[in-house]
Amino acid sequence: MIDVDIIRKEFPILERSVAGKPMVYLDNTATSQAPLSVVREIERIYTHSRANVHRGVHTLSQEMTDLQEHCRMRVREFINAGSIEEIIFTRGTTEAINLVANSFGSFFKAGDEVILTVMEHHANIVPWQLLRERIGIVLKVVDINDKGELDLEEFKRLFGPKTVFASFCHVSNVLGTVNPVKEMVDYAHSRGVPVLIDGAQASPHLKIDVEELDCDFYAFSAHKMYGPSGVGVLYGKKQLLEKMPPWQGGGEMIGKVTFEHTTFADLPFKFEAGTPDYIGIAAFSKALEFIDNLGLENIERHELEISRYAEEKLKMIPGIKIYGEAQYKGPVISFLFNGTHPYDLGMLLDKQGVEVRTGHHCAMPLMDRLGIPGTVRASFAVYNTLKEADIFIEAVRKAAAILS
Ligand code: PMP
Repeated sequence: MIDVDIIRKEFPILERSVAGKPMVYLDNTATSQAPLSVVREIERIYTHSRANVHRGVHTLSQEMTDLQEHCRMRVREFINAGSIEEIIFTRGTTEAINLVANSFGSFFKAGDEVILTVMEHHANIVPWQLLRERIGIVLKVVDINDKGELDLEEFKRLFGPKTVFASFCHVSNVLGTVNPVKEMVDYAHSRGVPVLIDGAQASPHLKIDVEELDCDFYAFSAHKMYGPSGVGVLYGKKQLLEKMPPWQGGGEMIGKVTFEHTTFADLPFKFEAGTPDYIGIAAFSKALEFIDNLGLENIERHELEISRYAEEKLKMIPGIKIYGEAQYKGPVISFLFNGTHPYDLGMLLDKQGVEVRTGHHCAMPLMDRLGIPGTVRASFAVYNTLKEADIFIEAVRKAAAILS
């Protein structure tokens, strides 16, 4: 069970005020706050163990390497990957997707087709467009229905003899839609097509089991999971990663270097060029521990209780329109008021201490599809309370009265 009062003590930032009011932080989809265990681990390492990883026999370097590799083991367990060789540390989801587009994408040729969906974050659109510019692949895009759910029949229809890859989000960062990824992976595989799942918005809320999903790649970011910024993970199936060429070159990813020829390190290091954010990675272990201690099912239940309560109340305010009403939906509410600009509403909420995100949420094609410039987005984490949901609703009511 979740005891929010106890959890909130782990997050001193939640006690601060904004505009002279107690802050209500509802921008968790962009970045969630980090508990003291994460903050203290960063401080402990800076004051005790900081040294570059994998490069020394000295004690500090070995301690730091152990901390980093311990995190890799934790991540493996967290997503039930087959081995630590399948866990590659990146700067975030964005870099993980770029890695796949550049490395696995080097197998594609002009005319090959990659399937995306209209609800993708720019991180899962632009890397494929860059590849299109370079080699002339073709992008096919799955549409959504009025509730913001993917059109699965269209998804299946888009597969053809030239389809070489499919890349889609597990959970939409705007609509909250939880996509039927298992069904999508199974279908893609029945057509011989490998898939990448952008799990940036799923990993903080849902149990991820990459073995069960059988996806070929899965990407996510630590900073949305109560962890530090600058750290992300790419899971990839070992047999694919082994065949893929390195993307970035530099230290750590090599076997032997001469000016004539370079051999590469084994997995996962082949894909980890340069000094990683080893302190962030080490502290990410503490974030995973925080999630494990609470239990993802409990976290999800709590977040959905608050977000559904808030959504029901929000709908009762005249002039409010909600974007994204999928049957399976994460703790995210995107909305607009009576055709007013999302920034106006967002600014009025900030003046009342309520921190929500406004704008296109790095999903401009989805905004075009919905025919709007952006939305106001409230998103919830395990430390949010029903009382905060009430403050949020009251703040929207006041803002709506001003904008009317
Ligand atoms: N995909 C989705 C669905 C996201 O929500 C985000 C972050 N908003 C990203 C990718 C990019 O994550 P990052 O900026 O951590 O690389």
